[in-house]
Amino acid sequence: FLQLHCSLSQDTVQLADYLVTYAPFTLFPSPVPKTVFLQALALQTHYNTLVDKISQDPDFLQEALASTIAVDDFTAKLFRIHKQILKEGRSQSIVLGLNRSDYMLDQREDGSSSLKQIEINTIAASFGGLSSRTPDVHRHVLKVAGRLEESQRILDNNPAFGLTAALAKAWELYGSERAVVMFLVEETQRNIFDHRYIEHELWKRNITTMRKQFEDVCKTGSLDQDKRLFVDGREVAVVYFRNGYMPQNYSWDARLLMERSRAVKCPDISTHLAGTKKVQQVLARPGVLEKFFPDQPQVVEQIRATFAGLYTLDLGAEGDKTVTMALAAPDRFVLKPQREGGGNNIYGSEICQVLEGVKDSTERTAYILMDKICPWPVQNYLLRRDAPLKISNCLSELGIFGAYVRHGKDMVMNECVGHLLRTKSSEHSDGGVAAGVAVLDNPLLV
Ligand code: ADP
Ligand code: MG
Ligand code: MG
Repeated sequence: FLQLHCSLSQDTVQLADYLVTYAPFTLFPSPVPKTVFLQALALQTHYNTLVDKISQDPDFLQEALASTIAVDDFTAKLFRIHKQILKEGRSQSIVLGLNRSDYMLDQREDGSSSLKQIEINTIAASFGGLSSRTPDVHRHVLKVAGRLEESQRILDNNPAFGLTAALAKAWELYGSERAVVMFLVEETQRNIFDHRYIEHELWKRNITTMRKQFEDVCKTGSLDQDKRLFVDGREVAVVYFRNGYMPQNYSWDARLLMERSRAVKCPDISTHLAGTKKVQQVLARPGVLEKFFPDQPQVVEQIRATFAGLYTLDLGAEGDKTVTMALAAPDRFVLKPQREGGGNNIYGSEICQVLEGVKDSTERTAYILMDKICPWPVQNYLLRRDAPLKISNCLSELGIFGAYVRHGKDMVMNECVGHLLRTKSSEHSDGGVAAGVAVLDNPLLV
């Protein structure tokens, strides 16, 4: 239950800069209404299906992302690879999706809460490993505090097992004993122990893993005549991206090489694009979910119930209305660029500053606007290495892990594999655990 901290001094990582410390966590679990928790679990297989359907719909992706890729360089580069693969034809019919749909509970006037989706992460969705261990931490803390009854109510949780089952299924379908699962990782690896849980689960199933960076793929990666991917002399059955969601330190040649290959990509480029915030906003438009679930009005209703207000900033009357609305009441909204990893969104008066600068140009289409979700605050202690211990007003975000494997037209696995609760002080608007703001938690169902 650890996290690695290291800092870079100039260009070299000093040994003394490495520090292994505990992953930050709340002292006590946080209350989550049971109905809302069950609602989130029940939705997950539908979200898996939705993401998968979007990834197979090039016309939808093209239309949804057209205005974004005109101004956002990162999304445009991803999109270019996606187009290239469509032109060449996909060389692998096995699809592996490991995602995490995140929610916050919006306060209602009657004191209850309604489940609202913050986003869905289709690439590098993290904390499936560490959150497999947090239940035991809180069970122990509660026993020490003399709260045995609560200790017994901490839910079991093992996303690492389910995520691994899907990785293993994809590896098995690929069909080569020699081939490995490659974790594509960052150069500075602060969350390595989260990956390790999944690596160990794979090793338990006699599946070899290796950890490689973009640079390794650049230097040693190649395709053979059958488009099998080799990195550092090993055949790769599955590329598991735990990096590649941010523009920094990207190798576009390496990404293209992997996408072209016969290796199963988690996610493939179109599934990655399906997780963008622009796609999320387009999904909330009238009639769009119906297109993906034409014969399942109940599923449409179930999914739509979790959508917060999402607004386009495309040029035109609708986008103009969004600008006016945001400038009039910035505290009611969050302005989001097409980025991942926490710390990128814009809040409050800064929304006005940013929008004033871009409101008359196409640049505004790099963003979407979203209603701000306001959960009921709960008091707790946030334990982390570098912060003094004090009681804080806290807000929580519930994540649900989904895993699916499709082989051609057959969904061979589609499951909800666990949950994650992250909690932060209400002083912070943004930021996850990796961004140093939120800490790991467990839901205590009430
Ligand atoms: P990222 O991909 O960077 O994680 P998110 O959309 O999850 O982007 O936003 C990061 C954080 O900002 C969330 O974890 C949450 O704390 C906060 N946040 C995002 N959207 C909203 C919202 N609509 N209302 C309230 N807080 C939000
Ligand atoms: Mg994200
Ligand atoms: Mg997030």
